[in-house]
Amino acid sequence: MARPFVLSNARVANGSIRDLAVADGCIVNPEHTALGSAIHISLPNCIILPGLIDSHSHLDKTLLGGPWLPHRAGDSVIERIDNERRARPALRSGLRDRAEALLCLAVSNGTTALRTHIDIDDEVGLANLVAVLELREAWRGRVEIQIVAFPQSGIRRRTGVDELLDEALSLGADLIGGIDPVAIDGDRDGHLQVVFDLASKHAKGVDIHLHEMGEAGVASLMRIVELTAANGLAGRVAVSHAFCLGSVEHSSAAKAADALGRAGVAVITCAPGTFPMPPVELLRSAGVRVAAGSDNVRDLWSPFGNANMLERCMLVAYRSGWRTDEALLRSLDLATTEAAAVLGMDGHRLEVGMPATCAVFPVSHVPLAIVERPRPRLVLSGGHPIHDPERLLRQH
Ligand SMILES: [Zn+2]
Repeated sequence: MARPFVLSNARVANGSIRDLAVADGCIVNPEHTALGSAIHISLPNCIILPGLIDSHSHLDKTLLGGPWLPHRAGDSVIERIDNERRARPALRSGLRDRAEALLCLAVSNGTTALRTHIDIDDEVGLANLVAVLELREAWRGRVEIQIVAFPQSGIRRRTGVDELLDEALSLGADLIGGIDPVAIDGDRDGHLQVVFDLASKHAKGVDIHLHEMGEAGVASLMRIVELTAANGLAGRVAVSHAFCLGSVEHSSAAKAADALGRAGVAVITCAPGTFPMPPVELLRSAGVRVAAGSDNVRDLWSPFGNANMLERCMLVAYRSGWRTDEALLRSLDLATTEAAAVLGMDGHRLEVGMPATCAVFPVSHVPLAIVERPRPRLVLSGGHPIHDPERLLRQH
């Protein structure tokens, strides 16, 4: 059995100094009898945060670890899908290595859990899913991985994708995905009906990519709200991107936010470059859970991305015009408390009895962490060091 340890003199997110005592992988009361033989590690001028959560990633798309590929896709979603379909066959053999390179990068930035969308279509079939299911097993206990069965190329415009999605959920995918029911499939009701029928059949959650802009996008959002209520899926449905909420009049966005809040539909944002940003404050004031994700990291969709959730929170704050300490503190929620709620990770808190899954950053408070985005000194998953460049727990 591993020796217990105590991380002391660091601050937690609310600014208070607190000893974090760990025995048998869990956070224990500092007076716990098992701590008699504990290792004590003093971490002054550091903060301890729950392990960061990346709520939107694509493990099967990254080119990390391979040679640099110049970006050649056009700007539209359809052009990027077609470009990827042309290039993807030559990249299939190295998927595991590239996905592991992305996981290692994420961990080195303090991430301990992520939700990944995995392509399922008429060309790649279930091959990427099978590879990532194996990867999830290999990484169990280090990084918690949620898998979304993602119809990247559409459902209605491709043959047999609905059956593949059905099989993917039987094989172990955690959620059913979807994408732009009108812009990609040209069939809002048909696309969303397949998605929600499969969610109901397999009792799984939903996470839909929605890049559609303006009132057309809001109409898709409202249909998702209706289907969430009709299928009793409150709290288990998320819409990723939701650019439309940042591209319509305030009154329309406010009405949509209220509907999302009442229906228990979350929004996941990646603070996208030039696309309209969903109004995070408006959503949160309407009771909508909002989380953040990296989305593309060095892949055929974008040369950017570094799997750094502090940076993603900074980008949300930057694009939202947040500057006060209070606002910067709130931006962190998108990768901690709010993300845990969206992903249904109830035990992801620095409380006695919970797994010791956390990251220690060399800054004295959260606003500085958001501004400077330092690498962590230590990352723990269930009490085990998964990133420990200084060998702080070397005796452990
Ligand atoms: Zn995505």
